[in-house]
Amino acid sequence: MLLSISRAGIAGSAQVLAIRLWPSSAYSRLTIESSTPLKYKQFALSHPDRVVIDIENIQLNQTLKNAGKLVRQDDPNIKNVRVGQFNAQVVRVVLELKQNVSPRLFTLAPVAGFHNRLVLDLYPEKQAQEDDPLLALLKDYNQGDLDRSQPNAAQLPGKAGKDRPVVIMIDPGHGGEDSGAIGKNKTMEKDIVLKIGRYLKAMIDKQPNMRAYMTRNEDVFIPLQVRVAKARKQRADLFVSIHADAFTSRSARGSSVFALSTRGATSAAARYLAQTQNESDLIGGVSKSGDRYLDHTMFDMVQSVTINDGLQFGKEVLSRMGKINHLHKSSVDQAGFAVLKAPDIPSILVETAFISNLAEERKLRTARFQQQVAEAILGGIKAWVASKK
Ligand SMILES: [Zn+2]
Repeated sequence: MLLSISRAGIAGSAQVLAIRLWPSSAYSRLTIESSTPLKYKQFALSHPDRVVIDIENIQLNQTLKNAGKLVRQDDPNIKNVRVGQFNAQVVRVVLELKQNVSPRLFTLAPVAGFHNRLVLDLYPEKQAQEDDPLLALLKDYNQGDLDRSQPNAAQLPGKAGKDRPVVIMIDPGHGGEDSGAIGKNKTMEKDIVLKIGRYLKAMIDKQPNMRAYMTRNEDVFIPLQVRVAKARKQRADLFVSIHADAFTSRSARGSSVFALSTRGATSAAARYLAQTQNESDLIGGVSKSGDRYLDHTMFDMVQSVTINDGLQFGKEVLSRMGKINHLHKSSVDQAGFAVLKAPDIPSILVETAFISNLAEERKLRTARFQQQVAEAILGGIKAWVASKK
């Protein structure tokens, strides 16, 4: 009896299951998750500036009513969210704005535990930090034209560390909708790797002749290709992606380091991992036109020199990780991670530890281990630079 009622309920109209807000300086995102795809219309109103979404064939529920409570005071774009039953069939969502934005609305099909999602991204018309190319890159990405903002060569002329500073792009994995792996005690990969990334940036910037940038320094989702594009745009010499591993068995543990492979993964585990990390875009949410940019266009350009450099750099980091944690594997693994596919920047991906392992989850949460990981990566960078002199 109950079953038939709930079935009829689902078939009758879409249910809004969750609403989330992800404010950041790059863009603010509103996600409306629903049982079935939503039918919607979007338009703008001015005086004051508002973005309006009319959702058809749904009824106001508590989740929708609570949307206004999600707005954070420090959201750079959204002042307020109001939701009301506009007429018998239509629920109206009104976003009051703090500044001029260009809205981008798209849907995402169910993936990895998420139901149907309607996503509204609000991009500020004016970028706060003029020296950060992220907003311009996201704009080009959304127009399917990421190549336009790319320099011909990634690295700056001159010898890194000798004639000019070594430029390192730090890439904390995941962010925003995409939490990455989650530990038994609810530790989120995206939070841990951001902390490690910040420690690493602070350490690098204290070094003479080194400069660090981050692909993200907030809890925001950045598509994988934009991360790579940002590394090229800022003329990075090295790219370090930071992650925490997870596996179905809680006994799996240890640190690993990966470099890119053009010939596919060197082991089944590496293949599995590359696949799950590459799914990040689907989970974090990229719209269709962004997907137009296929991985392999850049993949084809990858030179073996860059891969060998990545392997060598990876070895330096791995040996230092071995001093602070058990090693999952004693050599640098190779796999086709999308985030490692900068054609001309030696890139590695560090799986710091298994967040799915109880002891390592505990370890990952400590500032001490986070700093030790940052130190291990810094040591690897220094050794790699020294070897190039
Ligand atoms: Zn990850």
